[in-house]
Amino acid sequence: MTSILLFLEGFKNGFDTSLVHLRRLPSYDGLLHLRRQSLNLNSRVFYGARHVTPPAIRVGSIPVQSLLFRAPTQLTGWTRSWGHRVSFSHRSDGLDLLSSSPIVSTNPTLDDCLTVIALPLPHKPLIPGFYMPIYVKDPKVLAALQESTRQQSPYVGAFLLKDGASTDSSSCSETNNVVHKFKGKGKPKKKRRKELLNRIYQVGTLAQISSIQGEQVILVGRRRLRIKEMVSEDPLTVNVYHLKDKPYDKDNAVIKASYVEVISMLRDVLKINSLWRDQVQTYTQDIGDFSYQHLADFGAGISGANKHQNQGVLIELDVHKRLELTLELVKKQAEINKIKETDDGSSLSAKIRVRIDTNKENIPKHVLKVMEEEFSKLEMLEDNYSDFDLTYNYLDWLTVLPWGNFSYENFDVLRAKKILDEDHYGLSDVKERILEFIAVGRLRGTSQGKIICLSGPPGVGKTSIGRSIARALDRKFFRFAVGGLSDVGEIKGHCQTYVGAMPGKMVQCLKSVGTENPLILIDEIDKLDRCHTGDPASALLEVMDPEQNANFLDHFLNVTIDLSKVLFVCTANVIEMIPGPLLDRMEVIDLSGYVTDEKMHIARDYLVKKTCRDCGIKPEQVDLSDAALLSLIENYCREAGVRNLQKQIEKIYRKVALELVRQGAVSFYVTDTKDTKSLAKTDSEVKGMKVADIMKILESATGDSTESKTKQSGVVAKTFKKVMIDESNLADYVGKPVFQEEKIYEQTPVGVVMGLAWTSMGGSTLYIETTFVEEGEGKGGLHITGQLGDVMKESAEIAHTVARRIMFEKEPENLFFANSKLHLHVPEGATPKDGPSAGCTMITSFLSLAMKKFVRKDLAMTGEVTLTGRILPIGGVKEKTIAARRSQIKTIIFPEANRRDFEELAENMKEGLDVHFVDEYEKIFDLAFNYDH
Ligand code: ADP
Repeated sequence: MTSILLFLEGFKNGFDTSLVHLRRLPSYDGLLHLRRQSLNLNSRVFYGARHVTPPAIRVGSIPVQSLLFRAPTQLTGWTRSWGHRVSFSHRSDGLDLLSSSPIVSTNPTLDDCLTVIALPLPHKPLIPGFYMPIYVKDPKVLAALQESTRQQSPYVGAFLLKDGASTDSSSCSETNNVVHKFKGKGKPKKKRRKELLNRIYQVGTLAQISSIQGEQVILVGRRRLRIKEMVSEDPLTVNVYHLKDKPYDKDNAVIKASYVEVISMLRDVLKINSLWRDQVQTYTQDIGDFSYQHLADFGAGISGANKHQNQGVLIELDVHKRLELTLELVKKQAEINKIKETDDGSSLSAKIRVRIDTNKENIPKHVLKVMEEEFSKLEMLEDNYSDFDLTYNYLDWLTVLPWGNFSYENFDVLRAKKILDEDHYGLSDVKERILEFIAVGRLRGTSQGKIICLSGPPGVGKTSIGRSIARALDRKFFRFAVGGLSDVGEIKGHCQTYVGAMPGKMVQCLKSVGTENPLILIDEIDKLDRCHTGDPASALLEVMDPEQNANFLDHFLNVTIDLSKVLFVCTANVIEMIPGPLLDRMEVIDLSGYVTDEKMHIARDYLVKKTCRDCGIKPEQVDLSDAALLSLIENYCREAGVRNLQKQIEKIYRKVALELVRQGAVSFYVTDTKDTKSLAKTDSEVKGMKVADIMKILESATGDSTESKTKQSGVVAKTFKKVMIDESNLADYVGKPVFQEEKIYEQTPVGVVMGLAWTSMGGSTLYIETTFVEEGEGKGGLHITGQLGDVMKESAEIAHTVARRIMFEKEPENLFFANSKLHLHVPEGATPKDGPSAGCTMITSFLSLAMKKFVRKDLAMTGEVTLTGRILPIGGVKEKTIAARRSQIKTIIFPEANRRDFEELAENMKEGLDVHFVDEYEKIFDLAFNYDH
């Protein structure tokens, strides 16, 4: 489209202006050059009738427009079928365009073209279905092209040049120059070849030579190619693969929707000028049909996209993705067109001007300078769509940022406490830490420079605490999920030359919140990915590090912005997985999960109330008993967090809603009054309804309107029965319990001991099982199974040795370890496990087997053991305690060094537990084996 616009503008404004525009459009300098060079070839072919137009502009304009779309329909002697020889009549009136050339043949077929001359394209890749004039000055290349057309093999490979030619107007118009540079003289052959190939994109287009007129060669894009290898250097000849689009399902609703959207966008774009509508026709006639892939190509080809964006479309073999890329490009174009149609470019610039002028004193100097520079460019580019678009888009982003706009930060600790309590039950230590943080903020006058990291299993309220902190501080809130993120561009933006280039999330965030000091929640920072595009962790460090983020550089904006006013809160499941340099700068606050009692409170006081409200159900319409809630928590939702509990409660209330509506339906039939008839629904009708509809009906049937109806009919309200949910009928609402008892033995057998583990999902109990495989003198050995990591395998071996030593000390005559081959297994073999904290459990399991004595009933333990039998501290005391309670464990053994962690736990968590702290394995031995049942 840029090319067509170019032509139109040139035509409209006359020669001089068009030339100016052309010069400003680097990507069309080539055409300008072509126009100058081919001046007398075709000046009157298409515009002969328009005498007003000076020849120079006519010539320049014509090939662009005509060669892209019109030539086939307008030239005499042309047959549109590429299978036939076509030629052009020599006309005395100067219409001798293409006269010397085109012998276009089906011989050989496209499929036969596996070795082709590679032509480097400086400005744009050749999209299949489009025409492109190029200028070849290198006689060798030209001769080779002429020879190939003579041989009736008029095909070449057209490949976009990677480097800078597009901005160098003096050289890029001539393929010749490029070819010279291409030769890379003076280097060893192998290196030279590699360099040559590196300078062009490997994916290009198989192009048919439509005509050769002097040095001008007109190409028609046919299909996509990829370079396999170089065959010769001069002229550059390559072996190629032909690329096929990936198969796709034409009936797939998603791809169909993209297709329809591209069409509708194109329709907007094409509305501007009837000439473009003809082009659709020409293109489809030439290409055969407007299938999904062709539409994608067409849209990209006519959009004003730059060379990289077009190359992006060219390399995309996934038709759906290609459509999406095109959609972006066409959308942008449509937007610009629309504004230009109603609003000329100058009013667009005016908008930008207003934004700059009204905020001048708040915009940093270096940014203001760039704004002014770009703005002058914008004004000059008003009529030039492709660059106008880019510059406008850039300035739009730059000027829309909330320069100097802050929300007033509230350090009222009492209010903050109220907000935190309003949103969350319990978590007193977490809330306390947050209040401390706010208090420090108050004294310092600012809370910036700190990074809070909330760590804990899923569903424990990390995100919602983040939201509450923002609310408490009166900062705007923005969540940025970085789980699985591998592309640094997501954080730092993409350079403007990339397809669909956008600023990074930080800039997007500032735009969306409209203040410079929001609270940004970086979610799942422990799940960052890494790939060839860079290290997102170091990009995040640039963003969050108070030392660096005052001068954060987004690749798209290309000016530094100040992120130091932003308050960053991160969330993570496992802090060990947070990259070190990031973790160093964080203040970690643990949220370890909830015990049953806490979950009951959260469910009653927060989740049930909220769900009731959301479903439009009144509390008096349902009775969810404590026993039912307890059963729900213990048998369905045992994980550390409460997200699943929330889901189950929602499930219950949706069913309740349906039940209430059904009850209502029955009563309405009974009354059968005029008023209620409209609300009457049969059961089957109700079943087929969406929940939202049910809610609406429910609202109208239960709220105030019910009262008025009751007054009228006197029957309706009485028929509503309170829905009762108890342990006995809970399964009707949420199905059968999903959790098996974690405790599978009433009394653990010999060789089996319960350990306590910590996972990213919270704590859990796990059995360590040992049995002997065979006995015989000197057969002592150990076999380990259960998906154990290296650390856990090592600790099994350590445990084996320690157990053997203890046995030797206690019962020297017991040769069990020396003569028995043992097998240690940790059940749930499908789950990978690692960590040293099962050491003491393993020793106990070995000793139990050796002494043929089972361990104390309802005992669980955790602790790392050294070879000498010392017990080292472990992590996750709270989670492990919660897990032990869940499995009705009465006695827990923890390392002595963890005593404080346990003592800091809430009373309700410690209640009823017999906890022992040990520093030597000897003590565990006593606890585990010296008992009276
Ligand atoms: P996370 O980010 O830790 O995965 P969320 O913040 O998304 O978890 O919490 C899941 C749901 O549980 C939210 O609706 C949240 O409000 C609720 N929730 C979590 N902890 C509490 C709590 N202590 N009190 C009330 N609601 C809670």
